[in-house]
Amino acid sequence: MAHDSNCIFCKIAEGSIPSSKVYEDDNIMAFLDLSQVTKGHTLVIPKEHVDNIFSMSEETAATYFSKVPVIANAIKNAFDVEGVNILNNSGEVSGQTVFHYHMHILPRYGKNDGFD
Ligand code: 5GP
Ligand code: ZN
Repeated sequence: MAHDSNCIFCKIAEGSIPSSKVYEDDNIMAFLDLSQVTKGHTLVIPKEHVDNIFSMSEETAATYFSKVPVIANAIKNAFDVEGVNILNNSGEVSGQTVFHYHMHILPRYGKNDGFD
């Protein structure tokens, strides 16, 4: 599996940088974002290094995206959320700051949850 030794999310995937894990299997890891926009804000990464959506193979996409509902339900149950926003920034102009593909899952708790 491709890894980039300078990539912080590759280090999280390898376990050499600690994270608060929400889900893990052979190909995917989900962990809490360091900066919680709402409670339970989670990042979902392929363990394989992929810069962003533009360089993700169909094979990686099939494995990765098929697991997103399972992870969303794990977050829903763990944090008792009412809904989620799911988003990805791909490319610097979109606001991407870590260049290892990640999806944000942002739990929503109602009108005053601080994310509008
Ligand atoms: P982006 O702006 O690239 O979509 O999001 C990068 C996200 O990664 C940010 O929300 C930031 O808080 C999070 N982040 C950056 N470094 C770390 C880290 O070392 N650990 C965790 N858990 N999150 C990180
Ligand atoms: Zn990486």
